[in-house]
Amino acid sequence: MTATTSTLGELDRRYVFHPFTAAGAHERDGGPAMIVSGSGSTLTAADGTTYLDAMAGLWCVNVGYGRREIADALQSQALRLPYYHGFSSMATDQPALLAERIIRLTGDLGMSKVFFGSSGSDANDTQLKLVWHYNNLLGRREKKKVIARSRGYHGVTIASASLTGLPAMHAQFDLPLPMIRHVSPPYALWEKQPGEDDAAFVARLADELEQRILAEGPETVAAFIAEPVQAAGGVIPPPDGYFPAIQAVLRKYDVLLIADEVVSGFGRLGAWFGSHLLGIEPDLMTIAKGVTSAYVPLSGCVVSDRVWEVLARDGGAFQHGYTYSAHPLAAAAALANLDLVEHGGLIEQAARRGERLRAELHAAFDGHELVGEIRGIGLVAALEFVAERGERPVRFDPALAVGARITRACLEHGLITRALPAADTISFSPPFTITEAEIDTIVTVAREAVDQVADELARAKA
Ligand code: PMP
Repeated sequence: MTATTSTLGELDRRYVFHPFTAAGAHERDGGPAMIVSGSGSTLTAADGTTYLDAMAGLWCVNVGYGRREIADALQSQALRLPYYHGFSSMATDQPALLAERIIRLTGDLGMSKVFFGSSGSDANDTQLKLVWHYNNLLGRREKKKVIARSRGYHGVTIASASLTGLPAMHAQFDLPLPMIRHVSPPYALWEKQPGEDDAAFVARLADELEQRILAEGPETVAAFIAEPVQAAGGVIPPPDGYFPAIQAVLRKYDVLLIADEVVSGFGRLGAWFGSHLLGIEPDLMTIAKGVTSAYVPLSGCVVSDRVWEVLARDGGAFQHGYTYSAHPLAAAAALANLDLVEHGGLIEQAARRGERLRAELHAAFDGHELVGEIRGIGLVAALEFVAERGERPVRFDPALAVGARITRACLEHGLITRALPAADTISFSPPFTITEAEIDTIVTVAREAVDQVADELARAKA
């Protein structure tokens, strides 16, 4: 069937069940755009409209769209060997090369092995199985609870959604699972008390974690999971000293640390891993997104020497694995992608572009009546909107949907940003290949959109 632009939209409306989308409304009204191609940081829709993608998809197309090197790697691997599995000691060459590369890139973090999956969610589910298996092998059958943080995002499968600290992702499904707990995030804008400095804030958060572990019973707490920088929950970089303080508590009670590097891994923060940048010494690391720049799905659990040493003592098989674990096509794409990142100087470029983005956001929005905070680190940034600014800011009424309205206004002006759940925050996480001129455009369009919504809010009040 040949399809025109309007019939494509019609097919989508009628037959596609979209993720994170109001099902009935989409079936009735359709979506804002059908994207059919991409190049660099620009996407083109079926009707010819172009969009500047300030989100690199969902924080993932780090090398930009349309990279021939990855397409060529996919084609030649698909012709040579599209698939073979890794069960029962079978092996293929690309995952072996990729695992070695990943371990090398983790540098001095003490990592030893990679267990591959396809999505960040499945990898975090695997992490829980690894942690439980580890404690069972050590004879600590009670030590199974996992502590995550409010506003953390770790995925949507049943264990991963439980770890995710966003109530909207629990309500429909009777989650979280009973062995999951959440503690406060290092979210200075709302969690820091007036007059409290960073050191006191960090000490209070570390103490909250310690009290929680003690209340649960340290013999029942297996792991703590954290994104180096909370991404989908609001783009929340931690204050200085946060992870060292948290780690000291975890070590005291023999609790493993899982660093969820799904967004932060492979350069997003201007370093190979968030763990390098923020002084994190993970026992397990979760990777996805940037490992292939999302050209094909691939994820992994990176296991430290210390954890591997215990797992390797077991005589039996790890009773877990996906048909697509260690998929050779995905690994070939990852290797080509990492060549682009490593040999193209893209991590240094991400750091430089991030600095420019933050500087321009400050120039455009410092003192703006709607902007409560401008946050960012590496090439990820956010604006949070508040009804009243100052020492004790006041949130907007959620019914006003300020963040979502600003994102929609950006889209109408050809700019893709993302409104984050549970906060009036919009985020920016463009490809590392974004140009300086494109950064100027992002900030100019965002300013127009914010001013437009500020006008609407003022008119509604008058
Ligand atoms: N962890 C983090 C930190 C994420 O940001 C995401 C996705 N945004 C996930 C896990 C889940 O990944 P996926 O959507 O590939 O399952």
